[in-house]
Amino acid sequence: MTTEIEKEKTETSNFLEEIIEAHIAEGRYPGGILTRFPPEPNGYLHVGHATSICLNFGLAQKYGGKCNLRYDDTNPVTEETEYVDSILADVRWLGFEPAGIFYASDYFQQLYDYAIDLIKKGHAYVDDSTAEEIAAMKGTPTEPGKDSPYRSRSVEENLDLFQRMRAGEFAEGSKTLRAKIDMASPNMIMRDPLLYRIKFAHHHRSGDDWCIYPMYDWAHGQSDSIEGITHSICTLEFVPHRELYDWCIEKLGIWPSKQYEFARRNLSYTVVSKRKLLKLVNEGHVAGWDDPRMPTISAMRRRGYTALAIRDWAKRIGIAKRENLVDLSLLEFCVREDLNRLATRAMAVLDPLKVVITNYPDGPGELMEIENNPEDPSAGSRKLPFSNQIWIEQEDFMENPPPKFFRLSPGTMARLKGAYIIQCDEVVKDAEGKPVELRCTYFPDSRSGSDTSGLKPKTTIHWVCGRCSIPGEVRLYDRLFTVEDPANDEREFLELINPDSLKVVPNAMLEASLADGKVGDKFQFLRLGYFTPDPDSTPERPVFNRTVTLKDAWAKAKG
Ligand code: ATP
Ligand code: MG
Repeated sequence: MTTEIEKEKTETSNFLEEIIEAHIAEGRYPGGILTRFPPEPNGYLHVGHATSICLNFGLAQKYGGKCNLRYDDTNPVTEETEYVDSILADVRWLGFEPAGIFYASDYFQQLYDYAIDLIKKGHAYVDDSTAEEIAAMKGTPTEPGKDSPYRSRSVEENLDLFQRMRAGEFAEGSKTLRAKIDMASPNMIMRDPLLYRIKFAHHHRSGDDWCIYPMYDWAHGQSDSIEGITHSICTLEFVPHRELYDWCIEKLGIWPSKQYEFARRNLSYTVVSKRKLLKLVNEGHVAGWDDPRMPTISAMRRRGYTALAIRDWAKRIGIAKRENLVDLSLLEFCVREDLNRLATRAMAVLDPLKVVITNYPDGPGELMEIENNPEDPSAGSRKLPFSNQIWIEQEDFMENPPPKFFRLSPGTMARLKGAYIIQCDEVVKDAEGKPVELRCTYFPDSRSGSDTSGLKPKTTIHWVCGRCSIPGEVRLYDRLFTVEDPANDEREFLELINPDSLKVVPNAMLEASLADGKVGDKFQFLRLGYFTPDPDSTPERPVFNRTVTLKDAWAKAKG
């Protein structure tokens, strides 16, 4: 069966590559292609941005070109240096190095000069109308708009007023600069779009140098042109802006960069909009931008996702011309594939039940040799202490098991991973009848690797030594939202937050080697999933995040 995603991939994933290959074939860009990733530094990058980064840098790599990072920082009010720094860190973590790092704000003077040029050519005018008046004169898609009473100002008057706007003579909102195009255009964007607005705001880079700021449409294409971007790739909502993009470049007579569009990527069970993510952070629904439940790149890193897995995922989903939800489980599948390859195996018990092995000598016992990664022989092995006291999972024992329960119950056997086969002889319970200790016997000739016992227990369970394992906190995550598409639900997205998206296990028992785990290390806790130390971790109190469970829901759905 072909899945929705595979189908879409074969249909559409190559359309940008086809365009670029045609350009290369006709020798249009002899200097090579140049793309750019243009984030607005008003938040942390999310998984949607990750697809755009992989696309822009990936195309440049594939065709021997280059890719710039350009901060689209033309809106002084929402932008912060913290975001600027996090964006570069995230791009680099994903595995890409920008050919150049630029800021649209570095072009403010050039953009202003371009505006002067446009005015001189009679293609722009200063409008004294208020925002409401401009909106009222805009018309509708079926009715033409009305000309502003200021539309016929002379070039001289426009030049004078625009220079005085720049000099700070006019109040915010009292004047704008507009392109003089066509108030009857079927494309509403072409009905004399705003190019500049007055804003007495401090900018994170240009400080108080400017009190007029260019609009997106007067900054983006021109910045592309200044840098010589050959393929300016953006999301579909900019399709109607393409006409204006080309118009500005043509009227200015500057280097012709070109815009191409692909569909924004939305991931199921989360939201990918910086505005919404900011709300989650500011209102305390999550612990911060890098809370491991967030869809940000920094959160995915903290949670233990690998850059390779994210790049692999972006490649697998390809690009589309139609917006749709991408299944979260495909990303998780890619993460599992990579972690299975590289994670060090370890054992941890989340819900400990004490086991006393009555026929094993008291005191520190043998060291069991266990391989660190069956997928990678070069990862070597480690010596795991065993003794007559161990911890196993509560759920690996049932006093009165149903028919298909193959783990421990009174009288049954199980193999302890990498150690011996034990048999449960007796259960000790507390006053409420809850099992608090199992008394077991082990079979001395059943040691893993040299088992001559002939016994065949139906299951292998994980365990840690009761004498030398260490307590630690384990954080288990679930989807942040209860519905597939919280951004397109009639209910407010904040009402759809999954109340059980974080489960903290305060006192798990971890094998002692995990005390040395560093942030960035990847582990597979046997039977429990993939885990990574959280930055909150200390040697005294390790804290682990569950990156993803072991269960492969994606393969099941596909089968
Ligand atoms: P947001 O709504 O989250 O702020 P944005 O598009 O305003 O998104 P920008 O910082 O302007 O964010 O985006 C930088 C680049 O990343 C743009 O080229 C944009 O098209 C791309 N991008 C943003 N979100 C997505 C997404 N969900 N899927 C694919 N590309 C995206
Ligand atoms: Mg934006």
